[in-house]
Amino acid sequence: MTNPMSPWTEYLREYRETHGRPPAYLTETMGCQMNERDSETIAGLLCDMGCVPAASRAEAAILVINTCSVRENADNRFFGTLGQIKKIKEARPETVTAVCGCMMQQQHIVDRVKEKYPWVDIIFGTHNIHEFPELLRSAVLERAKAVLIRDDGGDIVEGLPFRREFPFKAYVNVMYGCDNCCTYCIVPYTRGRERSRRPAAIEREVRDLAADGVKEITLLGQNVNSYRGRDDDIRNDGGENDTLDFPGLIERVGAIDGIERIRFMTSHPKDLSQRLIDAYKSCDKLCGTIHLPVQSGSSRVLARMNRRYTKEDYLERIAGLRAVFPDIAITTDFIVGFPGETEADFEETMDLIERVRFDSAFTFLYSRRKGTPAASYADAVPEADKHRRFNRMVERLNAITAEKNRAYLGRTEIVLAEGPSKTDPSMLTGRTDSGKVVNFRAPAELAGRMLPVRVTGVRTFSLYGELLPECRNAPENIPLSRSLAGILSDFE
Ligand code: SF4
Repeated sequence: MTNPMSPWTEYLREYRETHGRPPAYLTETMGCQMNERDSETIAGLLCDMGCVPAASRAEAAILVINTCSVRENADNRFFGTLGQIKKIKEARPETVTAVCGCMMQQQHIVDRVKEKYPWVDIIFGTHNIHEFPELLRSAVLERAKAVLIRDDGGDIVEGLPFRREFPFKAYVNVMYGCDNCCTYCIVPYTRGRERSRRPAAIEREVRDLAADGVKEITLLGQNVNSYRGRDDDIRNDGGENDTLDFPGLIERVGAIDGIERIRFMTSHPKDLSQRLIDAYKSCDKLCGTIHLPVQSGSSRVLARMNRRYTKEDYLERIAGLRAVFPDIAITTDFIVGFPGETEADFEETMDLIERVRFDSAFTFLYSRRKGTPAASYADAVPEADKHRRFNRMVERLNAITAEKNRAYLGRTEIVLAEGPSKTDPSMLTGRTDSGKVVNFRAPAELAGRMLPVRVTGVRTFSLYGELLPECRNAPENIPLSRSLAGILSDFE
């Protein structure tokens, strides 16, 4: 007696009969790398349910919008997208639309979506991605609205499938949430308290990735350097259960064969320990760069932001990093126009920029987030002052970035070739160990390889180069090696 088909399998059979192929899905991701990694999980769950990737909205039977809530413009972009989706639904009412991510962890936004955007079928949050398949089944099979938000993360759900964008590099979540409660930030309310994954689960994932051909991993967390992983085999000198800190985790994943490069983000300056700084010396797979958001150069503003370090503390961390790794590339984030920021505060920030000379920086105008402490701060900075300061800061930062890039001229850098350049498909693009984008002419089939590239030109935000002549006719199956000499010997 044959097992009756499950209603979902029946739906897939009927869909295939009608459309000649399985239902296709499209995930659209807003925001940070952690959201991109969550979208890879959503894609993995959909593939496990028998769906296939769609190349465009027009092809998609299932459309998932993964939202970000870190700034106002992210909200505006989302509601603009919902307007566009309305037209898709009007043209193809059977399309299933789902929204998730940080915005959906805020009740006032969920209420607004339910009330004003009735063409949204499914709403879920950052803590219950693993429940999406059930919500999708009920939306498709029962044609019912499916809304489920969990207030806190609870236990971390391990082993969820995921579908990566790149075959040779991967994001690996190591922890979720944040306990820092910076006064301008919505993340602790949308991602919850800090929870670290078990080291053994992370090692298993990285081993599987290496076996699958991944060369570069980026360890992710909202506050990655406060990672504290628990496992039964982690004990202190007294034999008691203990936790593994972030440098310890780097050491563990660094020992996994096949992984050539380790990156991580995002760090908090207050948790940048000497042990983590020393990891740049002890772990040769750790890439020579760090993203260390400072936000402001004024200790007074940093205190109002509840960042829990001063300008001097930050400069001390930078000096510590450069003492161990003089050539380290340092990138950061700045917020301009935080409530109460004076001209003098801003000058402190400009002074910090001169003293650190960042390789690059993400710069933002302060954006009031409902539900954060700073949202009720009275002394808003006039828009004109905000923009004037912002423009001056960006101009100086870009000038320094260009100067830093000029220092690469004539150097040979090891680049992990990621694929065709977006600006010129006849060129490959990739990143140096220090995270610089390099575009260079090379055969497309070398994507995924670590290649020695001589830098022949610089732009503000990217480098140009040429593959070393002796590497142009690279036989296919040459194993990779890290050092330039090692790589060159592969082409002899
Ligand atoms: S460290 Fe601060 S800015 Fe970063 S996620 Fe946590 S609360 Fe937000």
